[in-house]
Amino acid sequence: MEEMMKKCRLCPRKCGADRTKSAGYCGAGDKVTAAKAALHQWEEPCISYKNGAGTVFFSGCSLHCCFCQNNQISNELYGRELTSEELGDVFLRLADRGADNIELVTPTHFVPQIIKALDLVKHRLELPVVYNTGGYELTETIRMLKGYVDIYLPDIKYFSPEVSMKYSKAPDYFERASEAVLEMISQAGELRYNEEGGLLSGTIIRHLVLPGNRHDSMKVMEWIAENTSSDKVLVSIMNQYTPFDFIPEGFPELRRRVTKMEYNSVVRYASELGINGFTQEKSSASDKYVPDFDLEL
Ligand code: SF4
Repeated sequence: MEEMMKKCRLCPRKCGADRTKSAGYCGAGDKVTAAKAALHQWEEPCISYKNGAGTVFFSGCSLHCCFCQNNQISNELYGRELTSEELGDVFLRLADRGADNIELVTPTHFVPQIIKALDLVKHRLELPVVYNTGGYELTETIRMLKGYVDIYLPDIKYFSPEVSMKYSKAPDYFERASEAVLEMISQAGELRYNEEGGLLSGTIIRHLVLPGNRHDSMKVMEWIAENTSSDKVLVSIMNQYTPFDFIPEGFPELRRRVTKMEYNSVVRYASELGINGFTQEKSSASDKYVPDFDLEL
């Protein structure tokens, strides 16, 4: 692990930072940093089905989207440091509190530390592990997680390189995300549920519809329909885009909510393509669904 931290190439930025000395593009040093661990009720119904997902929100992110709904932790890096031993204890405490699973949110830049934490506690942890990611991943890094993750919950945010460049400075976003998602699907296999309707394995692809970008959303849906199968993949089309005050100048289209017409047209198109999954009520577009990052770990 130390070697990986000295010249980090864990994500598609491949920025090569020596994280033992200073943070990489994602903002992460060599210690895990997280802002909250709690039972989280607002994931898809098969992820938060009884007591809630046992969610750990990691700080930092390799994407830095200009509209990020978790800006305080992804861009402002709010959080506190944990050793892998402490992270393993956080997983066990969530399990003791009745978590439906262990959900890792934006974990990419801490994959080696998370693997170490899971190795330390796996003999005492019987819950599925959920990997919740913005989708900007290297396939090689996802391969390291084989045998550790049961459920993948990746975004596919953008199709066009122009759009992903504009909002996340990542023109290769779709190329990297689509390759990585295929690896995730091959690892997680078929959708399997327990008797309470909780997901035990499989992949849920999320897509947040952005204002003014429904045609890009439709391209994402076309790729999903052509490249995945409904026995392994569900699709969650999200309507919770919230235009926060921190959105920088230069993105006037992001200063409003998604219209009913925009959202419904993407959902209708996905349905015509035979895609199965989840939709979201308009009422989910509110900052009340942004967790209170209180360093409770
Ligand atoms: S995970 Fe962070 S430090 Fe590592 S390559 Fe990506 S941006 Fe750089």
